[in-house]
Amino acid sequence: MRVNTGQVLFFSLMLTRRMVSTRSIIRLIVIGLLILSGLSACKTGSISSSENPLSKAAETSRQEDSDPTEVLESTSTPQPTLAPTDIPEPTPQPTEAKVEMITITIVFDNYPYKKGLKTAWGFSAFITYKDQNVLFDTGISGSILLENMSKMNINPLEVQNVALSHEHNDHIAGLPALLSAGADPKIYLPPSFSPYLKNQYRKQAEVIEVVPGHPIAERISSLGEIQGPPAEQALVIDTPQGLVVIIGCAHPGVEKMVLAAKRQFHEQIYLVMGGFHLGNASSNEVKKIINEFKRIGVVYVAPCHCTGDQAIKQFKEAFGDNFISVGVGAVIEIEG
Ligand SMILES: [Zn+2]
Ligand SMILES: [Zn+2]
Repeated sequence: MRVNTGQVLFFSLMLTRRMVSTRSIIRLIVIGLLILSGLSACKTGSISSSENPLSKAAETSRQEDSDPTEVLESTSTPQPTLAPTDIPEPTPQPTEAKVEMITITIVFDNYPYKKGLKTAWGFSAFITYKDQNVLFDTGISGSILLENMSKMNINPLEVQNVALSHEHNDHIAGLPALLSAGADPKIYLPPSFSPYLKNQYRKQAEVIEVVPGHPIAERISSLGEIQGPPAEQALVIDTPQGLVVIIGCAHPGVEKMVLAAKRQFHEQIYLVMGGFHLGNASSNEVKKIINEFKRIGVVYVAPCHCTGDQAIKQFKEAFGDNFISVGVGAVIEIEG
């Protein structure tokens, strides 16, 4: 039912013509105003969410203010029952959801990037998202790995997961130093790792043999073992922009690994980074791989480690602004 102010006052005044007492007139006007305030209270109350504590407080204050017995006994001018303070506070707008970043930090590489960090043959990248992290590969030297991590304020004790791409020393030799430092990560590796290494790791940590699409952390999975030799896993990060594929040394063939990621996860390949293993490839072979990347729809490339200077140059020319120059200390952030 909708009644407006004019209707209520008119109704009150019509009745007052037949009545004599001034006190009765005042009473009727008060009743009219009370009806109006009641209607307004219902109307405003329905806007706010009942779960909103602010609107609940406003309702309580309105109920207390409009005690009918108190107002009817009064002979003075009735106070409006909807004082400005009774107007519900505007419902707070929901604050924008905080954007969580996926951060990829290259902590070990033979290419320099950030001053003050050591380079040596090998690769390692530290990936964080929300409160989870994965260290992908560990470089050839534990002392250099720990030194670089320390300079980039990455605490080795906070490493939750380690994924090893393949069992070559320039990717796994940093692990013992990390474990000796007190880190207690889960270790994800391709099933074809040698039984000797698996047993060594099992003495100090939980070892998990990956299957295709194996989840490691939120948004971060293993591609699974791709046949080499040696067999190798890559890391796949699922971002809103597409897949980020991080590759250790690409022994099975970089284009083969990227294609496997696309087929397995059915998403656009946003970025391919790491070692593309093209140090000995001819410029024609590199050209073919670049063409294959374009055909697959790779958006960005960030080659390093074993890609080879000549191949890096060709990728830079082919990808232009979508070529990302990286080395040890490079940090790539992507909205998660
Ligand atoms: Zn290798
Ligand atoms: Zn390598």
